[in-house]
Amino acid sequence: MATQGVLAKYRLPPLPTIGEIIKLFNLRAEKQLSQNFLLDLKLTDKIVRKAGNLQNAYVCEVGPGPGGITRSILNAGVEELLVVEKDTRFIPGLKMLNEASSGKVQIVHGDILTYRMDRAFPKHLKKPWDDDPPNVHIIGNLPFSVSTPLIIKWLEQLADRTGPFTYGRTQMTLTFQKEVAERLTASTSSKQRSRLSIMAQNLCNVKNCFTIPGRAFVPKPEVDVGVVHFTPFIQPKIEQPFKVVEKVVRSVFQFRRKYCHHGVSILFPEESRLKCTEQMLRLADVDPTLRPTELTMTHFKKLCNVYREMCDQNPNLFAYNFREELRMRKLQGKTTEEGEEDDLQ
Ligand code: SAM
Repeated sequence: MATQGVLAKYRLPPLPTIGEIIKLFNLRAEKQLSQNFLLDLKLTDKIVRKAGNLQNAYVCEVGPGPGGITRSILNAGVEELLVVEKDTRFIPGLKMLNEASSGKVQIVHGDILTYRMDRAFPKHLKKPWDDDPPNVHIIGNLPFSVSTPLIIKWLEQLADRTGPFTYGRTQMTLTFQKEVAERLTASTSSKQRSRLSIMAQNLCNVKNCFTIPGRAFVPKPEVDVGVVHFTPFIQPKIEQPFKVVEKVVRSVFQFRRKYCHHGVSILFPEESRLKCTEQMLRLADVDPTLRPTELTMTHFKKLCNVYREMCDQNPNLFAYNFREELRMRKLQGKTTEEGEEDDLQ
């Protein structure tokens, strides 16, 4: 009973349903903006529960739209909720939620891809990196076209401890197309293992929480949706700059169905390719006939460490760009082996 009392304290007053809000403000989903709304508050509560205990938390919700997840976040007893929404049509509905929550909602009309998250919350919330995560959370159900570039950007900021990570190890709970959620959490040798798996799992404990069937959204998207929770590690698995890890991982997965030596080889200019590829794999103690999907995080760590050493010995090496060489060769009418694009990171 006591628990019920605590929960009741945070409930929003009765409000029109999300469906009524959509009608009231004429918020028809824009197909060009890939808008798909969640109207079922039990489902939005479930997403928000995956973020952990939000009591007195400071939360940034990205893409609140008509405000389903927003209501669940407010009902979780947060101290402050910052919402970043690109589409102006949603602002009046969000203002209504701000009034209903006695001013807890700070509304930013803007683009999350350019929004400066490092200034979003009070400075006193900052925690040292090796402390527990700060009481700052990011939650969002964004269009897939935004969530993938955004997580890449946030992973880089996480590595540099900038953006939302100036507050410490800020946790994120975000939705992705089901296949992307599976790539983010894919383990060694699984079919979905990809660049995104290594980049995310190098820096975070990544959990694929649950799948939302497409039919739960209005309008229904073509695909199902995965809810993924990220908790940054104190130490990344690979202790090298983000750009070094990104370059090695991207190259290795360039030929995802071939032996890994093909991908490793494109880190090196043609004249030294054979020798350097053999040297890198030998020093990293990686079997050249493993497929990229079969490489463990330890394999990637060793590959990145050796590549970094080779770059330190040859300062021009890191700037070498296989794609550029390929382009030049094509312009000159020469042919060479082309990579199969690992299209979704
Ligand atoms: N969160 C709501 C829900 O679950 O019902 C809406 C989800 S809808 C898939 C995505 C929302 O993100 C839309 O409201 C859209 O306008 C907004 N959005 C899209 N791109 C954005 C961006 N770059 N920055 C901020 N908001 C964005």
